[in-house]
Amino acid sequence: MTTITDPEAVPSAEEFVSGNGGVLPHWKDGAPFPGASDRSAPVYDPATGRVTKQVALASRADAEAVIASAAAAFPAWRDLSLARRTGILFRFRELLNARKHEAAEIITSEHGKVLSDALGEITRGQEIVELACGLSHLLKGSLSENVSTRVDVSSIRQPLGVVGIISPFNFPAMVPMWFFPVAIAAGNTVVLKPSEKDPTTANWLADLWKEAGLPDGVFNVLHGDKTAVDALLESPDVKAISFVGSTPIARYVYATGTGHGKRVQALGGAKNHMLVLPDADLDLAADAAVNAGFGSAGERCMAISALVAVDSIADELIGKITERMATLRTGDGRRGCDMGPLVTGAHRDKVASYVQAGVDAGATLVVDGRAGNPQQHFDGAPDGFWLAPTLFDRVTPEMSIYTDEIFGPVLSVVRVDSYDQGLDLINSNPYGNGTAIFTNDGGAARRFQNEVQVGMVGINVPVPVPVGYYSFGGWKASLFGDTHAHGTEGFHFYTRGKVITTRWLDPSHGGLNLGFPQND
Ligand code: NAD
Repeated sequence: MTTITDPEAVPSAEEFVSGNGGVLPHWKDGAPFPGASDRSAPVYDPATGRVTKQVALASRADAEAVIASAAAAFPAWRDLSLARRTGILFRFRELLNARKHEAAEIITSEHGKVLSDALGEITRGQEIVELACGLSHLLKGSLSENVSTRVDVSSIRQPLGVVGIISPFNFPAMVPMWFFPVAIAAGNTVVLKPSEKDPTTANWLADLWKEAGLPDGVFNVLHGDKTAVDALLESPDVKAISFVGSTPIARYVYATGTGHGKRVQALGGAKNHMLVLPDADLDLAADAAVNAGFGSAGERCMAISALVAVDSIADELIGKITERMATLRTGDGRRGCDMGPLVTGAHRDKVASYVQAGVDAGATLVVDGRAGNPQQHFDGAPDGFWLAPTLFDRVTPEMSIYTDEIFGPVLSVVRVDSYDQGLDLINSNPYGNGTAIFTNDGGAARRFQNEVQVGMVGINVPVPVPVGYYSFGGWKASLFGDTHAHGTEGFHFYTRGKVITTRWLDPSHGGLNLGFPQND
């Protein structure tokens, strides 16, 4: 048995993937750090149901040691020239691009999503690295000459210090990459607390940073649960927190972090609606509903889980969706299937219990993804955490399959009479992450983008995740804080402004004046 706990050794990517039954350590000062805690959690391969390794769960002292490493690295990193920082980011981008298949294998082995989807999330994360390569432009300040006689004013943005990034299981590469390239580019040091369900990608990324020449201590990984999160939220050395996860924890992180004087952006859960109007291209809409409903087994914060169909086209649309669902292959993500397993057995059971709740509440179960349905094409090991794509019709807004974020491959059709009724439904929902409208009527689409109370909107685009140079974030219970991720908002979040008013002496200066300074 190999354990990845020797602080002298940098484990290879292969060791990260296999784990060999060892305990995945934290990462600090540019090396694996076992910590002193005796707590750990199992990491599963969801396609086989087997435990492949353990991950360390930090004690308070372990967390403090990792935070201290990031704090010690901050002054030198802040003072490194923009040119050198840029060089390291470019090297990281090249290494990531060349070796992303390694990370994709790790993701599939711990999350379960199919390999092509795992590669897709890394590619979207890489966009943010590319954005951060332009740091010299994005960190520019401004100067106004002669605002008063011989007085100039300039504004600059400076890094905050140590920033904590707390990420969910569903995007072990992309979500951390929404944040850390920007935080590092802006001159901060980072402690990443990944999900304990699929933690290994974080160590792989740390190893890659080291290879790219990032100074030790600038990027650190802290594995753990609430103990690790609370240490980040309470430490006076941590100046900002970027959190992504479920709404109850996002609310807690926002309240606790801001209560400790930190800048916090906490992205929460979602219930994303796709409104299909009668004039839509129904083949396009059916493809979109299947892709966005069942991609990554519905474990995406931007997944479509509520299909809002105007009644006159609902039967035809459901027919087209059902035809497409009959062709989907559920199975091991390494075998070219369309959809993989759910992340854990407990999560699969929870999602399956929602399917039963929908049946009990009187919704029409059009396609049943639970075991034993002969419609399913299945290619996986018997003990994996399987649930095939599931479709409900005639779902009503008070049913739990509509009100709750299920986070699985369950698509609910809610029928409405009109655009207005569909819009009201979407705007009454407590979440506001993403939404989409399918229509060929430009006027209706334009009204929708204006009237819908959701942070990210797609028009004939079902998963409208913005490109890296725009910012990602929802409204209402999908985001606590006022700054979205990446884009210029990301650079704003990880820096604070300073304004400098300068007067250089002139022979004519001087004289006493106790009045408030005025410009002339
Ligand atoms: P989660 O809230 O269970 O966990 C997120 C993080 O919080 C993890 O690192 C976890 O270790 C930590 N955590 C869990 N319980 C905690 C507690 N009691 N105290 C402190 N920290 C705790 O979320 P998850 O199940 O990993 O991820 C799925 C959720 O994330 C879904 O709700 C999904 O919508 C959401 N999500 C949102 C976005 C977005 O952009 N808004 C993106 C991805 C995922």
